[in-house]
Amino acid sequence: MTVENVIIIGSGPAGLTAALYTARADLKPLVFTGNEIGGQVSITNEVENYPGFPDGLTGPELVDKFQKQAERFGARVEYAEVTEVDFDAHPFRIRSYDNEYQAKAIIIATGASPSKLGVPGETGFTGRGVSYCATCDGFFFQGREIVVVGGGDSALEEAVFLTKFASRVRVIHRRDQLRAGSTLQERAKRNQKIEFIWNTVVTEINGNGAVESVQVKDVNTGEVSTLEAEGVFIYIGHYPNSQLFKGKLKMDEEGYLIADRRTCTSVPGVFAAGEIADPIFRQVITSAGEGCKAAIQVERYLAELEDRAYPGHQ
Ligand code: NAP
Repeated sequence: MTVENVIIIGSGPAGLTAALYTARADLKPLVFTGNEIGGQVSITNEVENYPGFPDGLTGPELVDKFQKQAERFGARVEYAEVTEVDFDAHPFRIRSYDNEYQAKAIIIATGASPSKLGVPGETGFTGRGVSYCATCDGFFFQGREIVVVGGGDSALEEAVFLTKFASRVRVIHRRDQLRAGSTLQERAKRNQKIEFIWNTVVTEINGNGAVESVQVKDVNTGEVSTLEAEGVFIYIGHYPNSQLFKGKLKMDEEGYLIADRRTCTSVPGVFAAGEIADPIFRQVITSAGEGCKAAIQVERYLAELEDRAYPGHQ
């Protein structure tokens, strides 16, 4: 079996930047995309804060540029999911549904996924009115009533985007203060189609074949009421995609991988980049930066391995 220099698990900004840097170091990285290439940014409608693009661009456009740039220098992209990892022996082993691979170094960039509300109806109506991706599904709600759940940047950014289609967008937030930054708050509050419903949580999602309404509860009074809506877009944060590494790598109580300043995890040779190890910043630019750091560390790690195998070589 070929032993790869480096396998990168995940293809968001962290994974594709790690691919670019390791490719430019002539390490011929192999990138596993996971479910789909790009991770969360590929379902983001507008990226306005990635430097170098003063007019902004869409998430899929940015991912396409990341991928092309990495491939130009020799990165190989495998459209597959990693199903198993073994970091006990070196070279490390990983499996996809179809194959087994070996690598001298690994970069984990599996990112984070949208959190679920966990209320009745949410799972059953996913894809039939419940969505976590306005970019993907907004178009289907032309002239319809939509509710957005959450009070952070994602909720407001996507609520504004959804007003292109919806007749009205009601943002349901569990407090009376938004978590989102001031620019987005102002943009959302200025938008005539957006209404805020404060101090309220969704307790049930109901319908007949597709979503027709949500049941909500006022957290102060306990009063329960029904809001008619055909679309329910949920933006209440994220959880790290670290299930594959449970018991194999150190993680915090929320499941984020613990990596040192040099992006090394609890296993030497296994590095972590992007949101999988970052519950705090979670920006495209910070994830890309972490991917760059992990790639540089892989280069150093591989050089040290070589030195140990062939002491004194140039
Ligand atoms: P977030 O900042 O963690 O916000 C999550 C929101 O959901 C909060 O308002 C939270 O309420 C609410 N929430 C959490 N659990 C809930 C539950 N069980 N039921 C009801 N509401 C719940 O997540 P995010 O908006 O996805 O943003 C993640 C990161 O990406 C942030 O750092 C953000 O700045 C960044 N981001 C930036 C941009 C941009 O710069 N354009 C765009 C999108 C995201 P509380 O406020 O009460 O906790």
